[in-house]
Amino acid sequence: MNYTNMLAVAFAEAQAGFDEGGVPVGAALFDAHGNLLGRGRNRRVQDNDPSIHGETDAFRKAGRQTNYRDKILVTTLAPCWYCSGLIRQFNIGTVVVGESVNFEGHLDWLKDAGVHIVEMNDADCIALMRRFIEQSPQIWFEDIGECACT
Ligand SMILES: [Zn+2]
Repeated sequence: MNYTNMLAVAFAEAQAGFDEGGVPVGAALFDAHGNLLGRGRNRRVQDNDPSIHGETDAFRKAGRQTNYRDKILVTTLAPCWYCSGLIRQFNIGTVVVGESVNFEGHLDWLKDAGVHIVEMNDADCIALMRRFIEQSPQIWFEDIGECACT
């Protein structure tokens, strides 16, 4: 499985989100053969909708799937609680994580549930998110549900 090429799809979504002034998290859902099922990005800012994360957007774009155990969710950033809950709810088998430096997420909680986690530690993902956090810290803290005032 070529996780680097799969991550490139998610990264292109993150970059598009950044260019739109949004939170640069992109994601894509693939089947067991590496075929793209859906792709998306965080559109909290663009659509004024805090429920559209990269992962949920890609998940919804993929439409109904009968089984998620053999699916691969690729995301540029370690999933938040909301998206981690989605992964566990639907038993998504594999999650490819672009980076967990800027946000460590809850990867152990996913691993404990038997999710196969592939950490890419990708320099482009790290740099894009770091740039966003430096430029728009208040939007970032809003996105992760934390107050920036402390
Ligand atoms: Zn999320």
